[in-house]
Amino acid sequence: MENKKYLVVGAGFSGAVISRKLAEKGFNVICIDKRNHIAGNCHTERHKLTNIMVHKYGPHIFNTNNKDVWDFVNSYGELMPYKNKVIANTERGVFSLPMNLLTINQFFKVKLKPNEVEGFLKSKIVDIKEPKNFEEQALSMLGNELYYNFFHGYTKKQWGCDPKELPASILKRLPVRFNYNDNYYNSKYQGIPKDGYTAMVGNILNHDNIQLELEKEYTRSMNQDFDHVFYTGPIDGYFDNKYGRLGYRTVYFKEESFKGDYQGNAVINYCEENVKYTRVHEHKHFAPWENHDDTVVLKEFSKETEQNDDPYYPKRLPADLKLLRLYKNEIDNSNSNVSFVGRLATYRYLDMDKVIEEALEYANYFIECIDSQKRVDKLFSK
Ligand code: FAD
Ligand code: UDP
Repeated sequence: MENKKYLVVGAGFSGAVISRKLAEKGFNVICIDKRNHIAGNCHTERHKLTNIMVHKYGPHIFNTNNKDVWDFVNSYGELMPYKNKVIANTERGVFSLPMNLLTINQFFKVKLKPNEVEGFLKSKIVDIKEPKNFEEQALSMLGNELYYNFFHGYTKKQWGCDPKELPASILKRLPVRFNYNDNYYNSKYQGIPKDGYTAMVGNILNHDNIQLELEKEYTRSMNQDFDHVFYTGPIDGYFDNKYGRLGYRTVYFKEESFKGDYQGNAVINYCEENVKYTRVHEHKHFAPWENHDDTVVLKEFSKETEQNDDPYYPKRLPADLKLLRLYKNEIDNSNSNVSFVGRLATYRYLDMDKVIEEALEYANYFIECIDSQKRVDKLFSK
């Protein structure tokens, strides 16, 4: 039995997976989280009045092409098949999203076949050889009408800035299909845990060598009590924002309960700029295997992250990336015993499957370094 003692800061997927891997190696792990629950932003809990499973920090659909990650999560909870089909409510009507043949045919009132779409869109798109930002990417793929109807207003609300300032990569997350497939994701494996994400993360953390402490805020002075620390909180927060705060969007929700079916779908996006919320989720539709007469609806609003808000989406504007470099240099040049892992600690827009993949890789890498007494690279970021 190894008597090394490790601290993991954050009980989201990143922290839970690292804790588990170290615990299985025989190390003693203390995992802390400042919140009063585990699972980070993936936290789910049953609504008190209706018993509906609510994704407290926004809807989470697990999707991945990585079989190892899929097998890993399935070993900690049953994932029910779930296909995310989003509806876009726009100035020109209600359409299917992601952009597919039904969307295009209904939007332009045409009856195209798959092999006719590319030619049709050619007459609509703006000729931009190397799209440099979100707007250029959208215009070069879809043209003005689709861009302004579906993306311009929503993106301004979601990110709080002009889409010209945002990287093209944000748009590339969404498929554009020339058939009637309306699945929001392309991933091979998709699902939602039957008992929620919090139960799944609880199972990952359930190991004799892991001690969990909630409502415990990390301070750097804790480093001296441990052989190594794995930090999954915000990278700028770790340094008390000494070079400045990185840009994050955060979201907040307005919750209402109704009888019956409120909107007939789990997610409806509101693409018009003058509708203040970005999307509305009706949580019982994320669990179609359950039956509920009542319903819980959350309207999602996006805003800039302030002092006491939880950071959600890293903006990664050019000024942020400059700041990030300063923090990363500080990590590279320090001799501290702290590693930075996960979405917030590496300031990247990462889905759950990536976060789990990287936490598994980092834990294996760390254990290998310990076994072979090699120096540990402390910033895990591909
Ligand atoms: P987090 O879940 O943020 O966990 C970090 C933890 O660290 C938190 O619990 C926090 O309280 C704790 N912490 C921070 N600082 C401190 C401190 N100083 N002391 C103690 N504890 C601290 N991904 C998908 O794959 N599919 C989806 O459908 C999807 N939908 C999303 C919807 C929204 C609205 C958002 C915001 C994200 C979505 N994601 C989705 C991404 C997903 O939430 C992240 O990939 C995942 O939560 C990252 O896990 P993490 O452990 O790195 O970070
Ligand atoms: N987006 C949009 N309109 C929509 C849906 C998405 O403009 O109806 C843009 C928006 O900028 C968003 C990005 O596409 O941030 C990626 O969409 P995704 O659904 O992946 O966002 P997330 O799940 O991260 O909220």
